[in-house]
Amino acid sequence: MSKLNIVLFGPPGAGKGTQSEFLIKKYGLVHLSTGDLLRAEKEAGTELGLMAQEIMGRGELVSDEIVIGMIRNKIEANTAAKGFIFDGFPRTQAQAVALDAMLNAKSEPITAMLALEVPEEELVKRLLGRGATSGRADDSNEGVIRTRIREYENKTAPLKAYYSAQGKYKAINGVGSVEEITGRLMKAIG
Ligand code: AMP
Repeated sequence: MSKLNIVLFGPPGAGKGTQSEFLIKKYGLVHLSTGDLLRAEKEAGTELGLMAQEIMGRGELVSDEIVIGMIRNKIEANTAAKGFIFDGFPRTQAQAVALDAMLNAKSEPITAMLALEVPEEELVKRLLGRGATSGRADDSNEGVIRTRIREYENKTAPLKAYYSAQGKYKAINGVGSVEEITGRLMKAIG
């Protein structure tokens, strides 16, 4: 059976992490979140984590080289997986090209790119709410949140055209209850 490789796409606060939890259970996929991987490096106090910490604190993107290397290691460590959910990766064209190269070499290409769409003011409201309980410094400062949204618009949103050219881009309304949005994603996966 061919593998199910989903890019769960969208701006910060769109619900990628929350929705990933349901989808990995439903389809038996491995969840790869570069944000989670970077935060784990930070917690462990590794050199990479310390380097990334400052950039993440400003709301900017860490280098392509670092995140591509992390994803490559995880793909190679999970060869038996039924597929992957990529959450927060790719975020630049260089990352998307590298991911395609890795997966195409294994004849396990991306199945679909599902883009959660949420208006900016709703994102800011959600992230400030999350920051109050998650302890994530980058969720607690409105200036940093808006920088992250600008980074998304400038560097990440153009990937819609990249996946659209491959016939893989699907826009999903990301406003509604968690269950409603899970339903829309499952319908899009088919
Ligand atoms: P996230 O948890 O996906 O919101 O990511 C938190 C932060 O980690 C981002 O604001 C970036 O600084 C960094 N980050 C996560 N994933 C990537 C990526 N694919 N490329 C560059 N930076 C990333």
